[in-house]
Amino acid sequence: MNKIYMDNNATTAVKPEVLEAMLPYFCEQFGNPSSVHWAGRMVGGAIEKAREQVAELLNCSPAEVIFLSCGSEGDNYAIKGTADALKDKGNHIITTSVEHPAVLETCEALEKDGFEVTYLKVDHDGMLDLAELEAAITDKTILISVMWANNETGNIFPIEEIGQIAKKHKVRFHTDAVQAAGKIPVDVRKANVDMAVISGHKIGAPKGIGAMYLRRGTKISRFMHGGHQERNRRAGTHNVPGIVGLGVACDMALQNMDKDYKYVRNLRDKLEQGILASIAEVKLNGHPDADLRLPNTLNVSFNYIEGESLLLFFDMKGIAASSGSACTSGSLEPSHVMGAMGVDIVLAHSSTRFSLGSDNTEEEVDFILQELPQMVQRLREMSPLYNREEPTPLSCDECRMVNKACA
Ligand SMILES: *Cc1c(COP(=O)(O)O)cnc(C)c1O
Repeated sequence: MNKIYMDNNATTAVKPEVLEAMLPYFCEQFGNPSSVHWAGRMVGGAIEKAREQVAELLNCSPAEVIFLSCGSEGDNYAIKGTADALKDKGNHIITTSVEHPAVLETCEALEKDGFEVTYLKVDHDGMLDLAELEAAITDKTILISVMWANNETGNIFPIEEIGQIAKKHKVRFHTDAVQAAGKIPVDVRKANVDMAVISGHKIGAPKGIGAMYLRRGTKISRFMHGGHQERNRRAGTHNVPGIVGLGVACDMALQNMDKDYKYVRNLRDKLEQGILASIAEVKLNGHPDADLRLPNTLNVSFNYIEGESLLLFFDMKGIAASSGSACTSGSLEPSHVMGAMGVDIVLAHSSTRFSLGSDNTEEEVDFILQELPQMVQRLREMSPLYNREEPTPLSCDECRMVNKACA
C-alpha cells in the first residue's frame, strides 16, 4: 500500500539536507557551546550561522533571534514574559478565538492571575474585523497576539495592518508565525511585529526546536531560569543539532519559497476543486479566496459524516490527514476554530484537513480524488443523519470502525 502523507500542519518529515547538516553535531562536534575549550568553540560558530539563517527568513537581525525548545514555548514566553514585564502598565491582552492552544491556554492561565483577555471573534470565513480589534484597545492594553496564519483553515491574517494598528496605539504585538513561516513571506520588520515564533518540525527540521524573534529593546521577563544562554534570555544548554537543523530548514524554505508555493498550491487547488466538483454537500472551511489561505491547506466538511470515521477509512488506504487539529483529535469536542467560525455542529464534526507539502505528488491527489467520493458515500449511508431509503448492512470492518456491535 502506498503511503500518502497530507498532515504537514501537524508535523513534517525532516528534510534529508537538514538531517545531514545535523549529524556531525551528535558525535564529533558534541561540545557545549558555553564551554571555553576547543570542544565548545567548535559548535559556537554553527549556532551563530543558524541564527543568521533564521534571521534571514524573518528579515530581522541575528541578535534578535532566540532559540528555544518549540513553538509552544515561544508563545508561552512571549505572552507570559510580556504580561510580567508590563504588569505595572496594564493588565489587558487582545488575542483571537482561533489561536493555537499554546496561545489560547496561556491567555486563559493569565486570566486566573488577574489579567483581562479579549478573544476577538471571527466571521464565517474565519477572518477578523480589524475595526473590532482597534476598538478593543484600552489604555490598559499591553499586548496584541494574533497568529500569522491559522493551522486548521490556513487563513492568513492581515499582520501588516494589525502591526500598523499596534504601532499607532503603542501596544506590543506578538504573532504565532509557526504555520506561516517558510510557506509565505514573513517579514517581521515590514509587519511591525515585536515578537514572532516559529517551530522547526513544521518546516522540515526536527521536533523540539523553535525560535523566537524578539525586537531589539523589547522588555520581557525571563521564563526559563538558569544559565546565561541566549544573552540571558533563555536558560538551558543549546540543542546544537536541532539549532543547526532549524537554520538549514529556514535557509531551504527561503531559497525554495516561490517554487514550493507554486508547486504545493497547484496540488492543493486541484484537490480542492476536485472535491468540490465531485462530492455533494461539501463545505469549504476557511476563506473562499485561495490567496488568503496558506498554499498547502484545505479544510472541508462532508455533511452527515464524522471526520474521525473518514480518517479511519483514509488510514485503510494509507492516507494520513487530520480532523480538526492534531491537538483536538482524541477528544470528541469539535475544534474551537470551527466553533468560532460558527460552523454548524454536524459540519464541524465532519471537518477534515488536508495539509500538503512539497513531497506530495499529482498522482497522490488523483488517488484521493478517485477514492474519496465512494468513501464519503459509504459513510453517509452508514450515518443516521443521512436521509436514505434502504440502509445497507455494515460489513464487519465497518462495524469495527464505527464501534458498533457486529450483527
Ligand atoms: C504546531 C503549532 C504550534 C506549536 O508548535 P510546537 O513546536 O509543536 O510546540 C504553535 N502554533 C501553531 C499555529 C502551530 O501550528
